[in-house]
Amino acid sequence: MKIICIGRNYSEHALELNNPIPSTPLFFMKPDSALLQKNKPFFYPSFSNNIHFEAELVIRINRLGKSIQEKFAHKYYNEIGLGIDFTARDLQKVCKENGHPWEIAKGFDGSAVLSSFHPIEKFVNLKDLNFSLNINGSTKQSGNSKDMIFNFDQIISYVSQFMTLKIGDFIFTGTPAGVGPVQIGDKLEGYLEDELVLKTTIK
Ligand code: ZN
Repeated sequence: MKIICIGRNYSEHALELNNPIPSTPLFFMKPDSALLQKNKPFFYPSFSNNIHFEAELVIRINRLGKSIQEKFAHKYYNEIGLGIDFTARDLQKVCKENGHPWEIAKGFDGSAVLSSFHPIEKFVNLKDLNFSLNINGSTKQSGNSKDMIFNFDQIISYVSQFMTLKIGDFIFTGTPAGVGPVQIGDKLEGYLEDELVLKTTIK
């Protein structure tokens, strides 16, 4: 199982971090040891002083595929969930400045938080899907899939040119504007439409 994450897929978020808007999807990966599921707590790592939340729609691959054409990409996922791509923004800044890979800033333990997964049939329109993240009861991020620069099918088509997608792989599809730091003691709650699907506490 692998975890693929799309960066800069919402223009307002790219701009808030002073990044250019990409012309092809930008992706990076997290190891399976980054997974944090079943509403378990997140332990703030000692190597960072600036862990940011990034709430994202996540699709789960349900079919083996390589070089998938965009028109067939919808056959390769049938469940969607919410994820948090925890990012050590301080370490990422140094990686970016040095032109280094991002793994230490993005792939640490617990950095890939996942909600329960839901059949896509449950949602009226995948191209108009609301999601949000609350911290201690106040909304910090809210997004809608219609604002993605690259949609799910375009992402699958692009990524599968480079690597075979396998059953059980997850794709984090990018975060909208509003990212920010978490503090020890914070309680995070994630919603898909109006349904509470994810909870975690920062310890
Ligand atoms: Zn992200």
